[in-house]
Amino acid sequence: MSKADIGLIGLAVMGENLVMNMESKGFTVAVYNRSTEKVTHFVEGRAQGKKIIGAYSIEELIQNLKTPRKVMLMVKAGRPVDDFIELLIPHLEPGDIIIDGGNSHFPDTTRRTQYVESKGLLYIGTGVSGGEEGALLGPSMMPGGSPAAWPHVKPIFQAICAKVADGSPCCDWVGENGAGHFVKMVHNGIEYGDMQLICEAYQLMRDLLGMSADEMHQVFKEWNQGELESYLIEITRDILAYKDTDGQPIVDKILDTAGQKGTGKWTGIAALDEGVPLTLIGEAVFARCLSAMKEERVAASKVLSGPQPTFDGDKQALIEDIKNALYASKIVSYAQGYTLMRAAAGTYGWNLNYGGIALMWRGGCIIRSVFLGKIKEAFDHNPGLTNLLLDPFFKEKVEGAQAGWRRVCAAALTNGIPIPAFTTALCYFDGFRTAKLPANLLQAQRDYFGAHTYERVDQPRGQFFHTNWTGKG
Ligand code: NAP
Repeated sequence: MSKADIGLIGLAVMGENLVMNMESKGFTVAVYNRSTEKVTHFVEGRAQGKKIIGAYSIEELIQNLKTPRKVMLMVKAGRPVDDFIELLIPHLEPGDIIIDGGNSHFPDTTRRTQYVESKGLLYIGTGVSGGEEGALLGPSMMPGGSPAAWPHVKPIFQAICAKVADGSPCCDWVGENGAGHFVKMVHNGIEYGDMQLICEAYQLMRDLLGMSADEMHQVFKEWNQGELESYLIEITRDILAYKDTDGQPIVDKILDTAGQKGTGKWTGIAALDEGVPLTLIGEAVFARCLSAMKEERVAASKVLSGPQPTFDGDKQALIEDIKNALYASKIVSYAQGYTLMRAAAGTYGWNLNYGGIALMWRGGCIIRSVFLGKIKEAFDHNPGLTNLLLDPFFKEKVEGAQAGWRRVCAAALTNGIPIPAFTTALCYFDGFRTAKLPANLLQAQRDYFGAHTYERVDQPRGQFFHTNWTGKG
């Protein structure tokens, strides 16, 4: 067999599927795994008869690659990536490229890009989204790192990634250093937000309207045929219809404690670092944390009282309101996520293409939706757009959904049903459109106890004043 176009290390679920995807697009791939029995298992199993070369050492892997060599890591994020970089460096030559396709934290990717470049090599840290199926059939890919590496990797990545209806690839260059992994991190944060919003809609239908899983399945089926059409609404529709062996909906038997791997938390931390109000994703992360406190919640439910949810209004009308609340809150979440990316681009010197990012997320990934096409249009229309809520399309949508959104929040609060994402989105919307917030009082408090000074409404910005509030010297 001729030499391979690319090498891949890490034959777990993502790595194996990416290799199969690359091979199906005409590339020859050399593979290696720390536990080498997985190499044998793969080449003698799924990869048999394919243009896939099994390697049993790093040396053998490298010897089988065309130059400039491209080696992609699909291993557990963290230390294993650094360990493999160290193992690879002695075998590579200037211009060769190391690619990390795992869920690495963006500061690690920035550090690794600089380190690998200092050795005369090139580095790419790429977000890969879409899970197992995406890896096999076409993931969304968000590459960043050494710009000089991109022309060599682009033909492979753009061949294997998802495509939207007009054939555009859901993969393009994001930016230098950790930019690709930053954008993937924000994608995952938005995924947390979208999932929480769907769960809140579900809880309102279940606990306030007393709807069954089958009835909710019908609602999500309908929603998936309109402006909310997305992968997450689609799988929710299917989950609600899925029956256990006894014929009962399996969703009713699943314990209500959510897990998390940390990318939502990283997004929240990045927002706090940038000073960006990313409230919806923050609430989505905390909602998972609260859900994990199962024993405490069960104990508290026996001690702390609140209203018993009751609803005697127009059920169909409230379902329509919930849909509007979900849509408007989703717009706010994406507005916040894009604001975070814009702030980080300023901090790290990235020239991010915001419409291009929407296109990368439009297919292949977990947050893929019709809605992202509208975000692409918004940034195509105005590349300098500072907040998605100011785009004419989204402004009209939020304003149209607003009355129902408020009714849903009011009904949930009155009935004691927690909907942190819907309500924080509404508070952000109201805060953002409020010219005068109460921070004048806050500044006075800060000046009172800490002499932090304040600016005055009747003086030019940038002049600071202090009051001796107590009259004491
Ligand atoms: P994984 O379970 O995250 O990692 C398994 C791979 O990492 C195996 O090849 C394993 O080798 C290797 N590995 C683990 N610890 C190691 C160590 N200390 N030293 C060297 N190698 C080590 O696999 P995955 O689920 O396929 O994910 C791969 C990457 O893609 C991860 O960063 C993950 O976060 C990211 N990702 C996953 C998904 C998904 O849906 N699963 C989606 C997007 C991105 P051995 O076989 O020798 O243990």
